[in-house]
Amino acid sequence: MHRLYENNDIVVFWDSDKCYHAKRCVTGSPKTFDINRRPWIDMSLADNPEIWQTVSSCPSGALKCLYKHGIEVRMDEGSQRSVAYDGEVEIGECDYQRTDSGWVIVHTGVRPEYEGKGIAKRLVYKVIEAAERAHVGIEATCSYAVKVLKE
Ligand code: SF4
Repeated sequence: MHRLYENNDIVVFWDSDKCYHAKRCVTGSPKTFDINRRPWIDMSLADNPEIWQTVSSCPSGALKCLYKHGIEVRMDEGSQRSVAYDGEVEIGECDYQRTDSGWVIVHTGVRPEYEGKGIAKRLVYKVIEAAERAHVGIEATCSYAVKVLKE
């Protein structure tokens, strides 16, 4: 299971397949990470340094975090894509197609001047999360998305 959690500044990625429940997150930032709550991660209850340091201490790699650099990523299921915005300007997208076996990610792209900020990963993760929430399969022909799915 892939999930994204965000506050104004940071996005946290969680891959449940990698988590081996060492609970270092729970002790590092108990208000943020509470396995008895749904959703179990709440990014509004601790400051960014505490969250960042806690995520960095996850021994399995199940948790990862990035600064958002003011870029918002949203789903646009009507257009079968996730979209990255700098203010009102579209600066990246991840396109998928619906097939009989699920969703297939066919393209991920970010404007060159925005590369190196983790935006492509956020775009792909957003689509994966949406597919999982919709209980449909997810595959990719886009080479970058294939890499994220195999991570
Ligand atoms: S620290 Fe990482 S491996 Fe341990 S419970 Fe938290 S997410 Fe899972």
